[in-house]
Amino acid sequence: MSSGLSDGVLVYSEYDEGVIHPVAFELLGKSREIADRLKVEVWSVIIGYRVEDDTARELIYYGADRVFVYDHPRLVCFDPILYKGVLVDLVKQVNPSVFLFGATPLGRSLAPRVAAAIGAGLTADCVDIQVDECGDIVQIRPAFTGNILAYIRTSSRPVMSTVRYRVMRMPSRDTGRMGEIIRLIPMVEGDLSLKVLGRISRRSIDLTKADIVVAGGRGFKRRSDLKMLEDLASLIGGVVGVSRPLVDEGWMPREHQVGFSGNTVKPRLYIAFGISGSPQHIAGMRGSEIIVAVNIDPSAPIFRIADYGIVGDLYEVIPKLIEELSRIKRV
Ligand SMILES: Cc1cc2nc3c(=O)[nH]c(=O)nc-3n(C[C@H](O)[C@H](O)[C@H](O)COP(=O)(O)OP(=O)(O)OC[C@H]3O[C@@H](n4cnc5c(N)ncnc54)[C@H](O)[C@@H]3O)c2cc1C
Repeated sequence: MSSGLSDGVLVYSEYDEGVIHPVAFELLGKSREIADRLKVEVWSVIIGYRVEDDTARELIYYGADRVFVYDHPRLVCFDPILYKGVLVDLVKQVNPSVFLFGATPLGRSLAPRVAAAIGAGLTADCVDIQVDECGDIVQIRPAFTGNILAYIRTSSRPVMSTVRYRVMRMPSRDTGRMGEIIRLIPMVEGDLSLKVLGRISRRSIDLTKADIVVAGGRGFKRRSDLKMLEDLASLIGGVVGVSRPLVDEGWMPREHQVGFSGNTVKPRLYIAFGISGSPQHIAGMRGSEIIVAVNIDPSAPIFRIADYGIVGDLYEVIPKLIEELSRIKRV
């Protein structure tokens, strides 16, 4: 069934228990730019249970002209098969020109399923999307482990991408913006592909949202030495990040990894201890506001992007920092 709508730039807004993932707002900001160039509307779709109008309206405040809401008890938890069915149905109804997802674990699971079902291509992990002089969409993503940027044009429609969190600018929230909330009936009949028996909240860190990241690399000699890093992080309200070798060693869980194959972070302050500054690591933290590097090797590449550099041994620098910061805090 056709809705009479067509060509809008559609953003999937990840939603869980009343909260929209902020990557959706970043995508709406980028979609606004694309849509203004193409002279089309910006749409957003939200799937869940008990999705309030006030929640959907937030998407309008960040740039959507229309928000499609699918609200049903069977959509309360992410079910890749059910969610895919809902989105495929929406694409058939509204025929978007572009369809964007956050490159979150959920988005990375859902977007390929939708793309395969509608016969579209998908560019994963984009860091930018542009409209060229002919009005074609160009998807930009790192290639060859982050050493080059690939500019990708695709002829399939809609143009589908997953986009990394915290690489796009967060648009401002404009409560004066007007838009339409459209509630649609989801097709959720048939056997559930997934039976949710219960939910257990796991206390997990979200490096991508941290304002301060205190990161360690192979300069650390033993796993137990990372305790210093944790102490420093908790002293200054930061979160511990690591380079990939420490994750590969099993010293830290993968959710702490910064870089090309880990998290992209954009904190106000990033302190790197014993990290050389490989292209793959820098790909995940170069957007940090202030970068401080501590390394014994004055020629370490990390110093080329650091705002402040200390040539020194982390085993001396960290205890001194902890001591001095504790003293300041006591005063
Ligand atoms: C496909 C692919 C994806 C990758 N993805 C990632 C990724 O997401 N994130 C990532 O980090 N890496 C990634 N890598 C790995 C990357 O190429 C590097 O190997 C890695 O970033 C190096 O980590 P490091 O800087 O901790 O170690 P090293 O390069 O070994 O650097 C250690 C540094 O510590 C310094 N040092 C030693 N002792 C001390 C001391 N006592 N005090 C101070 N400084 C000291 C040394 O001078 C050196 O500069 C990826 C690689 C590939 C191929």
